[in-house]
Amino acid sequence: CIIFKIDKRKIRESRKIIFRNLMSEKFQAVVIGGGPGGYVCAIRLSQLGFKTACVEARNTLGGTCLNVGCIPSKSLLNLSENFQKAKKLQNLGIEVGEVKLNLEKMMKNKEKSVSILTKGVEFLFKKNKVSHFNGTGSIASANEVLVTTKDNKKISLNTDNIIISTGSIPVELPGIKFDEKIILSSSGALDLKSVPKKMVIVGGGYIGLEMGSVWSRLGSEVHVVEALNYITPGMDKEISSEFLKILKKQGIIFHLETKVQNIKNEKNSAKVSIQDKTGKNSELIADVVLISVGRKANTKNLNLEKIGVSLDNKKRIKVNKEFRTSTKNIFAIGDVISGPMLAHKAEEEGIAVAELIAGQSGHVNYDLIPGVIYTSPEVAVIGKTEEQLKEGNIKYKVGKFPFMANSRAKTVNNAEGFVKILADEKTDKVLGVHMIGSHVGEMIAEMAVAMEFGASSEDIARTCHAHPTFSEAIKEAALSVEKRAIHS
Ligand code: FAD
Repeated sequence: CIIFKIDKRKIRESRKIIFRNLMSEKFQAVVIGGGPGGYVCAIRLSQLGFKTACVEARNTLGGTCLNVGCIPSKSLLNLSENFQKAKKLQNLGIEVGEVKLNLEKMMKNKEKSVSILTKGVEFLFKKNKVSHFNGTGSIASANEVLVTTKDNKKISLNTDNIIISTGSIPVELPGIKFDEKIILSSSGALDLKSVPKKMVIVGGGYIGLEMGSVWSRLGSEVHVVEALNYITPGMDKEISSEFLKILKKQGIIFHLETKVQNIKNEKNSAKVSIQDKTGKNSELIADVVLISVGRKANTKNLNLEKIGVSLDNKKRIKVNKEFRTSTKNIFAIGDVISGPMLAHKAEEEGIAVAELIAGQSGHVNYDLIPGVIYTSPEVAVIGKTEEQLKEGNIKYKVGKFPFMANSRAKTVNNAEGFVKILADEKTDKVLGVHMIGSHVGEMIAEMAVAMEFGASSEDIARTCHAHPTFSEAIKEAALSVEKRAIHS
């Protein structure tokens, strides 16, 4: 009886596959890519009454973010920070035995977090009746997406609207290929089987610094090679230089104003030839090299040229304010278009485009997209930097407050960093907030809401903040805009 049931199910399944191979299915919207842009867009479209499909090439949903980005990196950042903290507990009066690293278990824990969250997206698709197709999508025509499955079966999806959300991929250095053993992209750096004795990171952006923090905490000697004379390009310079100071204190070695000339993969190690600003050449021998010089839009396999979807000068898909490409019913969102490559920016665009397709007025406020670096201490920013205000000839006032003077930060021995608020000189409207310190990645949401509502620094200063909390530093920084901070 059991055998009979299994056979019947198998027959039903194979019939379904054959049916899909022969027939095309009709949808009102097909989203290509199941990352934070794509899956959020598909769910919102379905909520708005559209018969929606989402095509994802990976076996799991969630895109770069859930599989090889935000989530695994934050898992390792958390666990490596705990490992380091555990080693220092003795200084705080907590006696523990010898603290040892079990990297295999740490990686398993990371994989568990990834698996729970990617399955969570699958559940959300079922709940919202989004049809999920596992395969590579390409655009056959403005109304047809062709899905090629792993076993090379073709499924044709007929649709009124196509939303491209195929994300981004890491950039390689010319002539240097990722092998994910010695020459790593961020994906390889998230999946090392042992702690490298020495790691060279090319690029001082947030992904490189987060990964550098992880491996440095677990015992690697980490070198960061950066062509500029500062790290985290685009960030307020005062925060960036404080961040650099703190990371140096933590043991990360920086080679600024230094260019990588060549990287030789020598099977068990790599030889990185560098040249500093004076023209002096030297070599770094490392167990692994993480190339973290940026990511590029992923437009592979989409057949864009044939369909007539235009790209911009950086090879990203060109869209108008409504996320419409040069082809009327084809839209694009997330890392594959311009703007900061961040999961929450992709999600906002996913919702906005769904609402626009439904005739509503979805929009994204690009002036207020927060950015967070999840190192210890964290860095969190929103709005304009001091450099941008100067460049735009906008007169501003500055309020600053150090965590050294914040009672909660002092109590928990975590008092590095400061909060900086930039407000318009005349109107007092908050134009930018830049923070480095513990918990600032959570605290930035307060400022995002305040700034969306057009808050002045006085509004923040007159808002009661609970005591003792790290967020009191925001109130004090706001008070300090008018030079009336109480605790410093
Ligand atoms: P993606 O997440 O890249 O998803 C695109 C999906 O499309 C992929 O799953 C891909 O398999 C699929 N795909 C591509 N082509 C096809 C095709 N032809 N057919 C079918 N499927 C296709 N951002 C943050 O906001 N916070 C962070 O802390 C953070 N940390 C990061 C750490 C690392 C190490 C990395 C690499 C990135 C991090 N990011 C972070 C960036 C974030 O992951 C991306 O901005 C975000 O995932 C972009 O979402 P997306 O939907 O545009 O694209």
